[in-house]
Amino acid sequence: MSFVKDKLVKVLLVMAVLVGIFGCAEDAGRVEAAASHELNYFKYETFTHEGRSWLRLELGIKGGSAEYSTKVKELTPKQLHVILQDTSRGKVKSDISLDRKIAKYLTLRDNGDNSLDVMISLNKPVADQAYKIYFAEPERHGKKPYRMVIEIAEDKLADEYELEQPKESESFENLAGHRIVLDPGHGGSDSGARGHNGLLEKTATLAISQNVASILRSSGAIVTMTRDTDVDVYGPLASDRDELQARVDVGNANPANEIFVSIHCDAFTSPTAHGTSAFYYQSSYRGRLLAEAIHQAIVEETGLASRGARTARFYVIKNSAMPATLIETAFISNYQEEALLGDPDFQHKIAVAICRGISQYFKMR
Ligand SMILES: [Zn+2]
Repeated sequence: MSFVKDKLVKVLLVMAVLVGIFGCAEDAGRVEAAASHELNYFKYETFTHEGRSWLRLELGIKGGSAEYSTKVKELTPKQLHVILQDTSRGKVKSDISLDRKIAKYLTLRDNGDNSLDVMISLNKPVADQAYKIYFAEPERHGKKPYRMVIEIAEDKLADEYELEQPKESESFENLAGHRIVLDPGHGGSDSGARGHNGLLEKTATLAISQNVASILRSSGAIVTMTRDTDVDVYGPLASDRDELQARVDVGNANPANEIFVSIHCDAFTSPTAHGTSAFYYQSSYRGRLLAEAIHQAIVEETGLASRGARTARFYVIKNSAMPATLIETAFISNYQEEALLGDPDFQHKIAVAICRGISQYFKMR
């Protein structure tokens, strides 16, 4: 055994040396062309114009006007992302805190391809704000160089709103008259899991469930919630069994109730764990249909990674008298997903997905 081990060590050493040699050779052979533009100035201010507050960011650009594009990503709707081509960050700081009136911070990131990410984290979604971007000539008196100016208004004016696309309908006609039980996980003395930045599972599950309830009700469904405030359902500091049975009882109290949907956040010791899953009780065929329909809608609409719809023996899905599912929306122990779970826009988005899944279930059933 030790002979094999020695041999293995030698092979690994040779490989390490080879990687080293080739690694160096490649580095020496590559000549990076520097970006033609470099940031050399930064300033920002908040000002009022015609009764509206504006934020103005000025980025000095050595080498004149650079090409740029803007985008807003679906999962980060409050971030205005400007990409400057052929530009490097220069000596301007990469993370800058702003005064929080309109935006919280500015992040500058050099990409490997000589482009520069300029990311502005706003208080409100970019879609709700007006902004403009232009280049300004140097000002000798103000000692300002040639610069890119980004101006963002605190909100849109009525006529600007008219240009917006109408919002996709968030009502599901086939749900009218259906009786649905929602169970926001944890509550009161039981916080559930806690994110690294302090978000509590009971807070996220309640916010998402309230969004689900309001969409279902506006679709004409009859919704019962095991709780709709920050409380224990059985009572403070009850045993897990009593607390969970109390939730099952809320659903089972009315034989006309058709489905039970429990909403939770997942958690794990490693912060890298991420994604969404749905659970059903093994012997429940309809529970499986329900779990799969909701899971699929969440994956499609939120872009969260799928961990599948699987069987489990959780108390509430085992003991509910109707088809039941427990949704682990996302990992509160993952930094990125914790931020999403605490974001009202994302809470609404995942709620719409859950409702779409429920609507799909009633079509298949
Ligand atoms: Zn939970």
